[in-house]
Amino acid sequence: PDRSFSGRRALVTGAGKGIGRAAALALSGAGAQVIALSRTQADLESLERECTGIETLCVDLGDWDATEAALSKVGTVDLLVNNAAVAVLQPFLEVTKEAFDRSFDVNLRAVFHVSQIISRQMIARGVQGAIVNVSSQASQRALRDHAVYCSTKSALDMLTKVMALELGPHKIRVNSVNPTVVLTDMGRINWSEPQKAAAMISRIPLGKFAEVDDVVNSILFLLSDKSAMTTGVSLLVDGGFLVS
Ligand code: NDP
Repeated sequence: PDRSFSGRRALVTGAGKGIGRAAALALSGAGAQVIALSRTQADLESLERECTGIETLCVDLGDWDATEAALSKVGTVDLLVNNAAVAVLQPFLEVTKEAFDRSFDVNLRAVFHVSQIISRQMIARGVQGAIVNVSSQASQRALRDHAVYCSTKSALDMLTKVMALELGPHKIRVNSVNPTVVLTDMGRINWSEPQKAAAMISRIPLGKFAEVDDVVNSILFLLSDKSAMTTGVSLLVDGGFLVS
């Protein structure tokens, strides 16, 4: 078995469900000591049962002070996956302040905050850290009803670049993965309508949505030494959507 992450500690946010949960399990399987952070305690308990050895941290990343308090207990981290996000779809003319604030707090502000705390600690310890932000094809292409979500992910891609620029001299790499639709809970809520799904799939050259494992494999690549000279990139996992 691949134990390439042994001896490394990895923090994965939004690890209760979907892509984050699968990334936490894959990292643990590859030898990392994983800290799984999410919002719903029941998800974290089921994750602990599924994989003994995973540590868990229950906090709402939309809450700045609670996040800071929770992370003060996390110990050292070498690898960070900023995966937690919300997707609240509303037509542009109907976007509410609540949806705007919640989306930017979780999808962008929390990435700033968690990354600041973890990077400061990586720098103090002198480790060669790696950070992967989970973005989306929606960062680079306008999608109907996605004004807020697209805006958060576009900002996240730029944050990835500036973090890569400023953290590179400290030997910390920062990249993003940008998937097309994945039928997790989030994907199912937004893409189950058959006509909407078919219209999206027809624009994807590979003719299908991504699987959770497609995204997890790219996250693991960007965390690993196999991408040792790669920083500041957005790795598309979109079946070619953005070239179509
Ligand atoms: P899911 O909704 O299936 O899972 C998201 C996880 O993040 C849940 O465990 C959720 O917990 C947690 N989370 C959400 N908000 C918070 C918060 N405020 N604090 C702590 N944890 C939180 O989503 P996916 O797995 O599909 O998405 C993962 C990432 O992939 C996201 O960044 C998303 O934008 C991105 N992505 C997803 C695509 C898709 O089609 N699914 C396509 C492209 C990108 P809880 O359920 O308890 O709120």
